[in-house]
Amino acid sequence: ATAAGRPPIEAATHCPYCALQCGMTLREADGEVAVLPRWFPTNQGGLCQKGWTAAELLDHPDRLTTALLRDPASGELRPASWDAALDRIVTGIRTIQASHGRDAVAVFGGGGLTNEKAYALGKFARVVLRTRHIDYNGRFCMSSAAAAGMRAFGVDRGLPFPLADLGTADTLLLVGANPAETMPPLVRWLTEQRRRGGRLIVVDPRVTATARQADLHLQPLPGTDLAVANALLHIALTEGFVDHSYVAGRTTGFDEVRRAVAEWWPARAEALSGVSVADLETTARALGGAGRAIILTARGAEQHAKGVDTVTGYVNLALALGLPGRPGSGYGCLTGQGNGQGGREHGQKADQLPGYRRIDNPADREHVATVWGVPADDLPGPGVPAYRLLDSLGTPDGPKALLVFGSNPVVSAPRAARIEGRLRDLDLLVVVDFLRSETAALADVVLPTAQWAEEDGTMTNLEGRVLRRRALREPPPGVRTDLELLAALATALEQGAVSPSTVDRKPTIPPEPQVVFEELRAASAGGLADYAGISWERIDARAGAFWPCPDSDGPDTPRLFADRFPTPDGRARFHAVQHRPAAEEVCAAYPLHFTTGRVLAQYQSGTQTRRVPALRQAAPAAFVELHPDVADRLGVVDGELVRVLSRRGELVAPARLSPTIRPDTVFAPFHWGGAARANTVTNDAVDPISGMPEFKICAVRVEKAVAT
Ligand code: SF4
Repeated sequence: ATAAGRPPIEAATHCPYCALQCGMTLREADGEVAVLPRWFPTNQGGLCQKGWTAAELLDHPDRLTTALLRDPASGELRPASWDAALDRIVTGIRTIQASHGRDAVAVFGGGGLTNEKAYALGKFARVVLRTRHIDYNGRFCMSSAAAAGMRAFGVDRGLPFPLADLGTADTLLLVGANPAETMPPLVRWLTEQRRRGGRLIVVDPRVTATARQADLHLQPLPGTDLAVANALLHIALTEGFVDHSYVAGRTTGFDEVRRAVAEWWPARAEALSGVSVADLETTARALGGAGRAIILTARGAEQHAKGVDTVTGYVNLALALGLPGRPGSGYGCLTGQGNGQGGREHGQKADQLPGYRRIDNPADREHVATVWGVPADDLPGPGVPAYRLLDSLGTPDGPKALLVFGSNPVVSAPRAARIEGRLRDLDLLVVVDFLRSETAALADVVLPTAQWAEEDGTMTNLEGRVLRRRALREPPPGVRTDLELLAALATALEQGAVSPSTVDRKPTIPPEPQVVFEELRAASAGGLADYAGISWERIDARAGAFWPCPDSDGPDTPRLFADRFPTPDGRARFHAVQHRPAAEEVCAAYPLHFTTGRVLAQYQSGTQTRRVPALRQAAPAAFVELHPDVADRLGVVDGELVRVLSRRGELVAPARLSPTIRPDTVFAPFHWGGAARANTVTNDAVDPISGMPEFKICAVRVEKAVAT
């Protein structure tokens, strides 16, 4: 009981951070909010330190509780009323669209937004602003795996099976995935798998916390994962592991792939990647000889200008071995952001409408337009992927205004200094956030928004399981939810007033999340990501519900592909793919490979986690991981400042010497801004299919830096 004798208030909810969406209970007593672990099928009561400390931001002194407007005289952001802030936005949008057309206003969303917000944001862009320019930061997350899954299987669901299947696999191959740091509670499934006698094999250029637990670690040169995949399939073919009856009955296109991998004899892959023939053979045999085998990719394989083809290489391997749809087996992607999955299903993506419908498909447009009550012809066409959108801002032909929700591209976009310049060139930058991120610091208007514990909604985790976020308490005074502010903006733009009280008809954007979800169900009905049969009540009654789920009375779908793939002929599609060099190769001036990644105690651009004392203590600053031989050549000792330079810019951070990193590679985490911003250095070359930037490899040189 509280000091006043009242029972504490509790909410059974999920962590605000990654796609594992661990179950947690929030308990408020005497104004203090505690996080308690809550059993959920994915985390089974486990939380990582990010989850444990998530409530510390609710009453954080940096919390924004008033709107901010940039003062033209001083150039400073100053507190303002909501009406003044909304007025500035509405006037700005009207002026810009009147002068430059509807596409002159763009929207940038986030993979952490609830399904309801992602849906509402897509509708706001297409129906209220009527702009084609909307995309989101998920493009920088798992878009390569999404595109590869779509072209092979006809659908993109991160894991097409429940997470618990990992624990039953005889062989588990993780490619460019480091869950021991990114989602530690998932490791219990890896432990379970090995307790049952299973074999864990990790492919990663670094000796990560996950690689240290593996039975076998393949440590390829960055950018050569596809050569490894093709060599594994080559070995599977020559050693008779290919499931020819599965290939004949359930797939198309294998002959071309067979020809493509014929030239990837193991010695060639060894010469390119550095992975020994013996390790390649051991891996192929462990996969091919397993009763149950699972192949998973994550950002290490995906964040490349050939990310879609790299993932396709591993999908080809899984299909050739007959894994997808087989019990306890298959291919999957470990989605990163909290709602990376749901965020890409409901209309935030430049080419999509809710339910994973395509914006360039007439039948899809018609269905969604009917739900939205607008003529299909009024819906704009497809926009452009995130990096292209950001890089066009403020240019003569690009958008002049940008509304950012739940994202911090100043830190998270590749070639970040260039993108920062683009944002500065805008006529109007609006940022919706609850903290002053590096992007918010550039804004003309900042709108303070609610945090996860202050609003209801749904998220779709990495398994495609739709689950409920439940509010513990109201937002503080001065703060609105994203839906409330979208509703107010929509009303003002449509009716010329800023007060929701002037609404005299059904609003285009309802402010109530459950009302939005009911509309989302109708909009998604019949689509690939069909939520029609999923109600909040159904989620509450069980541990969530897996899409597709077309009927309220029918089953949901924990496992996909048992009988057929959602392609026109029901078969999965092989695609022949070939290794190609990174967009930027090392040379005399830039002789080292640079790669980026995460640390356990920080999340994404760090806007939130850098402000949590325990996390700051655990991971206080960026660093540059170097091999001691490289440090010796530079005359650098552990902890000394080094400068990492690419053709695009530089970062400065202390050296962290590690004998386990490849001597030809340096690494930096991307959670920090300022001088240590890793994305100042990264390459903005993008995958031609997914639009994924090449975060994971570019050419750099390293110098000793002098502290200033
Ligand atoms: Fe939160 Fe992910 Fe950590 Fe779970 S693993 S507590 S969802 S950050």
